[in-house]
Amino acid sequence: MIDLAFLTGKTTDQLVLFLDTRHLVHREMNDDLIKLFNAAKKEGFDLAITSTFRSYETQKLIWNEKSQGIRAVLDSNSIPVDLTNKTNEEILFLILRWSAIPGGSRHHWGSDLDIYDQNAVSADYKVQLVPGEYESKGPFYQSTLWLNENMQDFGFYRPYSHDHGGIAPEPWHLSYRPLSESFLSEYNFEKFEEHLNLSDFRLLDEAKKNSFEIYKRFISIF
Ligand SMILES: [Zn+2]
Repeated sequence: MIDLAFLTGKTTDQLVLFLDTRHLVHREMNDDLIKLFNAAKKEGFDLAITSTFRSYETQKLIWNEKSQGIRAVLDSNSIPVDLTNKTNEEILFLILRWSAIPGGSRHHWGSDLDIYDQNAVSADYKVQLVPGEYESKGPFYQSTLWLNENMQDFGFYRPYSHDHGGIAPEPWHLSYRPLSESFLSEYNFEKFEEHLNLSDFRLLDEAKKNSFEIYKRFISIF
């Protein structure tokens, strides 16, 4: 049994620091992630992490800032959306396109991470995490192609590679299948509802009203 606090990013019990970074990863993924990074390095790709584990509290901060327009909410083409005339329910689903609901992110598990190739850009390059950076004219295209061919040898895949009508495709997001598949299968709808009843983020009433749709489209995918 995997408990709700773990699934919703409220504990760091199973996490370790990855190499000499500040990034927390699941202790059972650590070795294979190091192997993946080393294999990439041999091919000239210096993989770097923008985020791995993210706590419930951090996701809540991002979520609350987006819901108030403090942090930009982007549309499917990565263009900021004007929230002034939107209903709370519309805002909820606009945010969900790019950001998980607090407690509903795969980043809560330590088995998922966002990466880029720091060899492909200058040291002062600010990574945007937008699809264009990973497509054929973008700096991270070559490392994306290499990952397509090789990451599965180390247990990794991209859970958001296609648009299923929920989360936008995220070519930078990798997941460690041996762990994340079992975490996802543990995280059923009853657990998500229980989590909402314990939560305190903005737009919570709208989230409760739409809990099944949110669960289906943004959590229990694949
Ligand atoms: Zn991600």
